[in-house]
Amino acid sequence: MSGLVTRIGLLGGTFDPPHIGHIRIAQEARSALGLDEVLLVVANQPWQKVGSRSITSAEHRLAMVCAATEGIEGVHASSIEIDRGGDSYTIDTLEELSARNDGAELFLIVGADAAAGLETWRRFVDLAQYADLVVVNRSGTSRDIDTSTWPDRWRDGTGVRHLEIEPLQVSSSALRRGVSTGLVPPGFMSDSVLAYVREHHLYDGDSHE
Ligand code: ATP
Ligand code: MG
Repeated sequence: MSGLVTRIGLLGGTFDPPHIGHIRIAQEARSALGLDEVLLVVANQPWQKVGSRSITSAEHRLAMVCAATEGIEGVHASSIEIDRGGDSYTIDTLEELSARNDGAELFLIVGADAAAGLETWRRFVDLAQYADLVVVNRSGTSRDIDTSTWPDRWRDGTGVRHLEIEPLQVSSSALRRGVSTGLVPPGFMSDSVLAYVREHHLYDGDSHE
């Protein structure tokens, strides 16, 4: 991509498993915003999900994201949160990435469901110091998000982009259910991810809902 400043997008998630929605969002954000790369940042411990269901090990989830992004230009798996260990907080990741990539512009990419819950994230107001926010529409989620508690730069819209994609009715939860019941709808996961899931017997039980 052109320009001297590196522009990096971050799409954080549990990726349990990664699906076509994640890849599509990353690709569309990259082209719409002229990003050099988009990192799919695999949460080590997704603290908001722990306790509500059984979460696949970080190593398996990272391996699946590596498989899903293989050969996709400008879209890469990141193990930064796994390497750091413990609970995964996006603010720590932004601080680390901005220290590592001096002068880079960071873009935090979130689906509309995640955007609606941003205020529950650790030190959420500080996130805007490090990154612009990119909100992607998600089917089944309202576009109307209460931004009243957002940090100024996001609330006034200067640090926010809205990315409209063709809605994709896909979620990791639905795919986990699909695998556990033997009904995986075709086309939502790459063949390599599905092969990995089968080889390691992920989602065979019913505790992954
Ligand atoms: P789960 O059903 O387990 O919550 P998920 O499909 O929501 O899984 P996550 O790993 O939770 O996947 O999502 C990571 C990020 O990708 C979040 O910001 C989420 O909003 C976004 N995202 C996932 N799927 C879509 C989709 N189909 N459309 C738009 N955004 C999506
Ligand atoms: Mg989710």
